[in-house]
Amino acid sequence: MSGVKRLALNIGIDPDRNSLRRQEISDRIKDSRNLRKISIGVDLGGTNIRFGLVTADGNILRRLNIPTLVQEGPESVVGRIIETIIRLRRTRVQVQAVKSIGIGAAGVIDHYKGIIHFSPNLPGWKEIHLKELIEKEIGIPVYVGNDVNAFALGEFCFGAGVGSKSLFGITLGTGVGGGIIINGKLLLGTNHAAGEVGHTSINAFGPKCKCGNMGCLERYVGAEYIVKRTIKRLKSQKSEIMKLAKNDHQNITPEVIHLAVRKGDELAQNIIEETGFYIGIGLANVVSLIDPEIIVVGGGVSGFGKLLLDSIKKTMSERIMNFPGRRRKIVLSKLKDDAAILGASQFENFLFPE
Ligand SMILES: [Zn+2]
Repeated sequence: MSGVKRLALNIGIDPDRNSLRRQEISDRIKDSRNLRKISIGVDLGGTNIRFGLVTADGNILRRLNIPTLVQEGPESVVGRIIETIIRLRRTRVQVQAVKSIGIGAAGVIDHYKGIIHFSPNLPGWKEIHLKELIEKEIGIPVYVGNDVNAFALGEFCFGAGVGSKSLFGITLGTGVGGGIIINGKLLLGTNHAAGEVGHTSINAFGPKCKCGNMGCLERYVGAEYIVKRTIKRLKSQKSEIMKLAKNDHQNITPEVIHLAVRKGDELAQNIIEETGFYIGIGLANVVSLIDPEIIVVGGGVSGFGKLLLDSIKKTMSERIMNFPGRRRKIVLSKLKDDAAILGASQFENFLFPE
């Protein structure tokens, strides 16, 4: 039997059936070959590094997780990334099947050269040539990009944004980030710093932000500021939150606030609605500027769920110019923690100079 015939049978095509045109057979074989292409996606965080062996259609075949141990310094961390990639390549698939590696990390990154200029999650990382260091050891192409861009690409390729042409991804956590995809392309900006929705100002005379600007969105909805606002409010209002936090302010987190809402706590509900209000202002600005087909909301704070989303939507509808037929879609992340791994695995298809 010829190779083509065997492959056709493998993917469920009867090669002898007259009704199936030759071209169609060859297209489907090509597709099935593409699906067998494997990439490795890496989510390089300040606490953990998560690895996934990913097929071209977004299935994670195997995962590995290692602690970052950032205090050991970049050389040690990069060494352990390389070791883990080697371990991952040895399993389930043949070594030669892995065609590329994509790594997403927080911070300012040269997406073409794969250099991490600076990362807030990785203290001590300055001008780390991550692409070069790993390629030298592994011998296959490595792509390095911003973790929020990875999140946006993950949702665009395999999650809530499948089928759309343009998407804005916002991640809500300690920091607030954004990733922009327009007409199927990732928008990096001149300095590879586009999408920083967290540092757009929503109050001209608001509190000073770490970035130097005043009244930044992140200064209102970053996890630590949500907690600070809650603690301030607790001075004058009774709440389940204190009981859940065992009467210690140190124990208050967005998760605790969410838990209090489920117990019907009014203060917690107000805090989440207020958070949605601020985010809604930020996202109304995004819509006015780039008019994306879909906005996907992710990150730990998006765990506030429907209450947060409803508040975001309400504020947006009050603040976006309306006209007949205007479409707007805003949803919570579908892929959650996997979005960054899946998106990073696709960097190869999105990170190259025009
Ligand atoms: Zn800022």
